[in-house]
Amino acid sequence: MYLIDTHCHLHDREFFKKEQAEQMLKNAHARGVEQIICIGTNEKDSEAALAFAENHPNVFCSYGIHPEEADGERGKASGFLAALKQRKLVCIGEIGLDYHYGTENRKAQIALLEQMLDLACAKNLPCSFHVRDAFDDFFAVAKNFSGLRPSVLHSFTDSKENLKKALSAGFHIGINGILVNHSAEFSWANDLGDNLPLDRFVLETDAPFLTPAPNRGKINEPGNVADVASWLANKLGVSEQVIAEQTTKNARKIFNLPDPEPTKSHPCA
Ligand SMILES: [Zn+2]
Repeated sequence: MYLIDTHCHLHDREFFKKEQAEQMLKNAHARGVEQIICIGTNEKDSEAALAFAENHPNVFCSYGIHPEEADGERGKASGFLAALKQRKLVCIGEIGLDYHYGTENRKAQIALLEQMLDLACAKNLPCSFHVRDAFDDFFAVAKNFSGLRPSVLHSFTDSKENLKKALSAGFHIGINGILVNHSAEFSWANDLGDNLPLDRFVLETDAPFLTPAPNRGKINEPGNVADVASWLANKLGVSEQVIAEQTTKNARKIFNLPDPEPTKSHPCA
């Protein structure tokens, strides 16, 4: 049994030097994290994620323009369409709405999200969504895309009410270090087992950000998804094996991932 980091930015050279990223892939393998999805945040970054995925057998990638880039990047998506045929490209993301710093560009964000959702539906790909302080608009927009494949609300940290709405709308929840480190701030995390069915969440790190305990303060890396898994196992009163089996099954189904390939460091490779 193995774990999957469904959302990280290990390809991003602004945060990880090449050798450091290679070492972190080894660290991940050593902790049972066999597959990772590198998430793009704009056109150029998505290209970097694709290049990194192409060079590593168990790394996959996304294409997406983050809502924070709504003003500058809108309309550039078509330049990357050829890459969407690549086997390594498994989702559209991260895309969504973020009103945390204001709603001045609300219209531009919604237009970009609609453009990305059109793409996801046309290519029959799931999405990794970034939604912050914007769930009313998000649900209103998403419901117009009935052909959208079951997708993930990455780094969900909103209200119990919006969690319920998200689950009934068919979304899955991406759990990372925010919940591990700040679970007391989320009412639905107190009785997590009642609020979040096992078949509706996946694990992620969002590395380099959001490092879960016990490594808070250090740069985050995909191997730390094991800490999220063990926290969840403890919280739900189930074994880590159950968490690994279920979240890996969920992630493989959502992102249509193949069996992991043996890596060079593996003794039977
Ligand atoms: Zn991210």
